[in-house]
Amino acid sequence: MVNIFALDIGGTKIACGIYDENLNLIREWKVPTGKSLSDIEGAVLKSCRRACEEVEIAAVGISAAGNIKPDRRTIAFSTNIPCWIDYPLAEIIEDEFKIPVIVENDANAAGWAEFAHGSGQGSCNMVMVTLGTGMGGALVLNKELYRGSFGMAGEIGHLPMVSSGLPCGCGLFGCAEKYASGTALETLAKQAVRRDPDTGAKLLEMTGGDPEKITGSTVFAAAEAGDELSLSIFKETGAWLGKTLAAISAVLDPDTYVLGGSAATPLLLSEARLSYPKFLQASSFRPHAEIKLAKFSGDAGLIGAADLALRKVRE
Ligand SMILES: [Zn+2]
Repeated sequence: MVNIFALDIGGTKIACGIYDENLNLIREWKVPTGKSLSDIEGAVLKSCRRACEEVEIAAVGISAAGNIKPDRRTIAFSTNIPCWIDYPLAEIIEDEFKIPVIVENDANAAGWAEFAHGSGQGSCNMVMVTLGTGMGGALVLNKELYRGSFGMAGEIGHLPMVSSGLPCGCGLFGCAEKYASGTALETLAKQAVRRDPDTGAKLLEMTGGDPEKITGSTVFAAAEAGDELSLSIFKETGAWLGKTLAAISAVLDPDTYVLGGSAATPLLLSEARLSYPKFLQASSFRPHAEIKLAKFSGDAGLIGAADLALRKVRE
């Protein structure tokens, strides 16, 4: 029996999971990430030790919030964990435990989980779009993760959709994630409520009268309850999402889009499906990609990392 230990290392917590060779979860736990380099390293090694004490581990798969070097062993840099610069994570664990380690970017690991075991199963070219605070992505082309020449591929949230548009945290203007993400839902709702509190009555009622408390989830709940304003906000955001997917299709021509993350809701999916063909080049002459919701949620990074480690063992 081959067991895999997977870690999903984010800015605040490390999710850990022991999986068997069929990717059944045997045990899972979470620990705080810590702040300093030695704290984080200590937390990672301690969890690896715990896993190795419980069962025999054949390989370790890591999903990490950062830019991973092409050897999939070293973290070049991480905006969430700034102390990681050229950090040899795989080597550190291998030296201690003498088992193979593979490191993958968290968005790629989640995309791989969908491709290998989720909504992207059977696809040849799949684009995963993660909609949360921003918009992230992962590309699986010809059934393999595509990382790009510099490990920067899949940053679809920063496609420049609007010239001189809204300012983005990346320093550019008019990026896709400013128009289609959980934050976009929230921003549009807050603006509308401030402009006209009467139209925003339902949203205000749900947040105790405080427009500052409106989030993407509030807008979704209100839309589900039939609130006109929230439905129109979904229409607008979904239209931007469809347009973004059409722009990706013009370049990559994938067969499947998988929408994941906290803002990937059935309502946004249906609006994106309506908008996508309108912006698709040669729309009436070509097959259209399927647009689906993701199968996995918070555990996608772990499952993807575990699967990648398992493949490494079987190489
Ligand atoms: Zn941007």
